[in-house]
Amino acid sequence: MQVIILGSGSPLPDPDRAGPSTLVRTPVGDLLFDCGRGVLMRAAAAGSGAGAFRAVFLTHLHSDHITDLNDIVTMRWAMSFQPNPLPLFGPVGTEALMRATEVMLEPDIGYRLAHHDDLQWRPSSTVTEVEQGVVFDEVGVRITVAPTDHSPVRPTLGFRIDAEDQSVVIAGDTVPCQGLEELCAGVDVLVHTVVRRDLIEQIGLPRLSDVIDYHSSVGGAARTAARNGVGTLVLTHLVPAPAPGTEQEWLDQAGAHFDGEVVLATDLLTIDVAR
Ligand SMILES: [Zn+2]
Ligand SMILES: [Zn+2]
Repeated sequence: MQVIILGSGSPLPDPDRAGPSTLVRTPVGDLLFDCGRGVLMRAAAAGSGAGAFRAVFLTHLHSDHITDLNDIVTMRWAMSFQPNPLPLFGPVGTEALMRATEVMLEPDIGYRLAHHDDLQWRPSSTVTEVEQGVVFDEVGVRITVAPTDHSPVRPTLGFRIDAEDQSVVIAGDTVPCQGLEELCAGVDVLVHTVVRRDLIEQIGLPRLSDVIDYHSSVGGAARTAARNGVGTLVLTHLVPAPAPGTEQEWLDQAGAHFDGEVVLATDLLTIDVAR
């Protein structure tokens, strides 16, 4: 398998970091986890795209993780030559999100149906709301879900992908928690969203400080990795975005708790999962 960080950013707009999104290349095709700001631009750079996603998975419905779902829906529909329903997996609430997205797109859908004679169908999707357990099992690719803790945001999910004796976990936004522990046991690559508690406290803005409550610190992610024998820990969704020259600080904070490989994500960072 291959993991490609499409967006390593956060809700805060950044010229170099797209919103949260990770592509996992598997024997069954490209699996997309979350679809933040700019996801299709980064997917294009990775040689993928809306029509190529075997399925899309949402960790939760916070806006930074779903901003460009509408772009995926539109491009998968308008750029295909036959109906191509989007398989979408996510927490309870995903079905309502998709229906609302279609309502939002209704004017555009009408324009394109009226203008293109060869476009005779509407966008479509198959939505599966998931909570726990194995939710996908095809051609030796198995995806397992567990609840995470991003309170007061509920529900939130982590995903584990197993294929070819390799494994990847997409933690999503969470603090260390039991569900994540269960997913992470012996995993080769853990993609974990993190915030820098020390820097956020220095900035001292209450609305920014609130994010500390429901995100993992770098040290927290590293301790989860260490407890579960993770191979490679990928730090992403970086708040605040690392100032140039400070990257080593992030790696050192993780390295204080975890002996394995630690990688600080940048957009289009590609990791070959190896056993
Ligand atoms: Zn969130
Ligand atoms: Zn987030």
